[in-house]
Amino acid sequence: MITSTTGPQPADFADVRATNLAVVLRFVREHAPCSRADIAAGTGLNKATVSSLVADLIDRRLVRETGLTENRVGRPATMLVLDGSPYAAIGVEINVDYVSAVATDLAGERLLAWRRSFSAGESVNQGVANVAAVVRRVVNRMAKEERQVLGLAVAVPGLIDVNGTVRIAPNLGWRDADLGGDLAKALRDPGFAIQVDNDANLAALAEQRFGAGAGASDLVYLTGQMGVGAGVILDGRLRRGRLGYSGELGHVQLDPEGPACRCGRRGCLEAMAGVGAVLRRADPSPAEIEIELEEVVRSARAGDAATLSTLGAVGAALGRGVSIIANLLNPQLIVLGGYYVPLAPWLLPPARAAVLDAAIAPQAGGCEVVASTLGHDAAALGGAARVLDSLDSGRLPGGISRTS
Ligand SMILES: [Zn+2]
Repeated sequence: MITSTTGPQPADFADVRATNLAVVLRFVREHAPCSRADIAAGTGLNKATVSSLVADLIDRRLVRETGLTENRVGRPATMLVLDGSPYAAIGVEINVDYVSAVATDLAGERLLAWRRSFSAGESVNQGVANVAAVVRRVVNRMAKEERQVLGLAVAVPGLIDVNGTVRIAPNLGWRDADLGGDLAKALRDPGFAIQVDNDANLAALAEQRFGAGAGASDLVYLTGQMGVGAGVILDGRLRRGRLGYSGELGHVQLDPEGPACRCGRRGCLEAMAGVGAVLRRADPSPAEIEIELEEVVRSARAGDAATLSTLGAVGAALGRGVSIIANLLNPQLIVLGGYYVPLAPWLLPPARAAVLDAAIAPQAGGCEVVASTLGHDAAALGGAARVLDSLDSGRLPGGISRTS
């Protein structure tokens, strides 16, 4: 490690520089290709500061010059774009029946997307070993591409506290597991940070960064997995609540006389509008869900009356749950993910009608309900987004020495 020979600098000076580097990096990400003058105009930083910050970002290979120029009044300018070719962010999602892994570059382009089966009921130790094996393969692949891994974030369906401990993941059967610590051990301290977060939270980050509603500052993502969790972004930030347990929409009771829920209560949203309600079984086998859902889609397309009636009821119940979010949080966008996506043509119309009916604000306060376009790896992609977010907040990888 090379330390400065000019003596210690005030900590806040270093903080300001790190913050400004992040501001410039973020500007380039959002506006590339752009010139140094564009950055100065867009961020309010003076031109000399921008030049120095850009030089630093180029040294770290986070930004590069394209060599393109743009003819304007005055001198042509060198344009800048994100580089990041020596880096990768990794996101992993653990769910009841699969583990998926995504690696992205700085712009969020998928470098790889893998999915393999996983059986719920595995002990935490077995789960950690399986996930570590997947991560090791991803890291090896990235090393072959000469990319340094910036970090890993793991999505888990359950209550994850603010320290990343899995408190309860009912559908995995896990409790009080230090998943991040266990993974770091299994990976033999891999040299990058490992974060653990709730699957809905990370999927919401993916939607905000890469989804159809990219840039929306008030967005709620609903996982349509075995459980139904909500990831809440308000005023541009993920909202986790006091201990990190916000968003358990699946166990909001819609009907005290409703069907039994796996949590032991009755009439929860999960029991009335989860995948079990679609398949008309309380406890469908994870391995069979996708096959059975394909069957439901086929029947719905064929106009089967019983199927359409079930989907209508599920959509209406889902809409009642969604209207609670609309009344409580006034989001601009509610995104349905997971198993809801293939069912969206039938679920969205009754859900939207129920929201309009139950929301007190005219036109549900402008709240739109849409299906995710990110596919099944939204939560894993969100893990990568979370790693990239830490760049935005100023945690940049150190300068890389160029070998040429
Ligand atoms: Zn319940």
